[in-house]
Amino acid sequence: MVTPISPASPSSGIPWRPRQVWIDRQVVDSPVTANVLAHLPDVPTAVIDGPPPVPAPTNQAALMTSAKKTLYLTAQKGHFVRACPGASSRNSQSQLCCGYMIVDLIYNCNYDCTYCYLQSYVNAPYLTVYANVEQLFDELGTFLRTHPQPLVRIGSGEFSDSLSLDPLTGFSRLLVPFLRQFPNVLFEFKTKSDLVDDLLDLEPDGKVMVRAAGYKIGLHFDPLLYYPGWEADYEPFVAQVFDTVPPGDVTYMSMGSLRFPPALKDIVRARFPKSRLMYAELVPGADGKMRYFKPLRTEMYAKMFSWIRRYTADTGLYLCMESQEIWQKVFGHAPACSADVEQHIQGAELQSRSAATQVVPLSSLTFSPRAAL
Ligand code: SF4
Repeated sequence: MVTPISPASPSSGIPWRPRQVWIDRQVVDSPVTANVLAHLPDVPTAVIDGPPPVPAPTNQAALMTSAKKTLYLTAQKGHFVRACPGASSRNSQSQLCCGYMIVDLIYNCNYDCTYCYLQSYVNAPYLTVYANVEQLFDELGTFLRTHPQPLVRIGSGEFSDSLSLDPLTGFSRLLVPFLRQFPNVLFEFKTKSDLVDDLLDLEPDGKVMVRAAGYKIGLHFDPLLYYPGWEADYEPFVAQVFDTVPPGDVTYMSMGSLRFPPALKDIVRARFPKSRLMYAELVPGADGKMRYFKPLRTEMYAKMFSWIRRYTADTGLYLCMESQEIWQKVFGHAPACSADVEQHIQGAELQSRSAATQVVPLSSLTFSPRAAL
């Protein structure tokens, strides 16, 4: 039995208002369902036994636009816990992966980033929240108990933003207390939002600072976007990040460049006709994904690394889905295999567990994305 969550703090606000909420009868009694309904009292709601009767859009671009307007609460019928999809493509082109695990809580995102690969991936005209929390805890608990290595890195931000719907779903208020019983887990809420109030409320003293509340910070400079003069934006951006977040408080960082399946190009052009993003020179890699040319990616990573190194030598920095060759050129060394990458990140984390705690103002952790890229 999962304990119902107490209502979210009124200051959390409502991040998104769907036009309709469909509720699978299987999750009518879920605490997630209760939290969603408590926050959307005036949105039309219906309990159903099959998939939502949403008309099938004519093409993928239309499907994606439609999918941002309707919410479907249902049960995860597959596995909640899986290896990050990056791991399955690494062998095809010697890409190194970091051994990350993902947990699928939400499928699709209420945000709408131009470059988001979900636009070519999502195949349902609604946003799906998996609300069968008891099964989630059963599966997570079993996984963590049977993987007792020093550290399991797992996150919920693969098929959605981890926190952009958190005031509605209440997942963080369910997960954090549950995960506290597992000393071997590092759970990552990967977000572009500043919706951390519920996380902070979990601290009995009502802290107003993320680091002081005991949460660790990871930074992901991903995807790096190329355009003429990109350096003039990114260099001060790196400075802004480290003016805000003391480098000693960052457990690890990653960099990745724009990459997407070829089908995304036409969808982005249809949905964001003013965007210049898809006019860059991009080539298919061995995994079929489009990327900037290797020399350009290498140059971008090397510049970012040099700017980051002004603030910290010990970064726990790694590259996402790149080859040994690029690691070597950027860092002057390369992990022998993906397990080495994992060890590199785990080493940074385990070291940080004994580091002194410093304080980061929460308000400083929000960064505005550039418009119309
Ligand atoms: S926040 Fe992430 S998942 Fe959401 S639209 Fe942007 S890139 Fe996609």
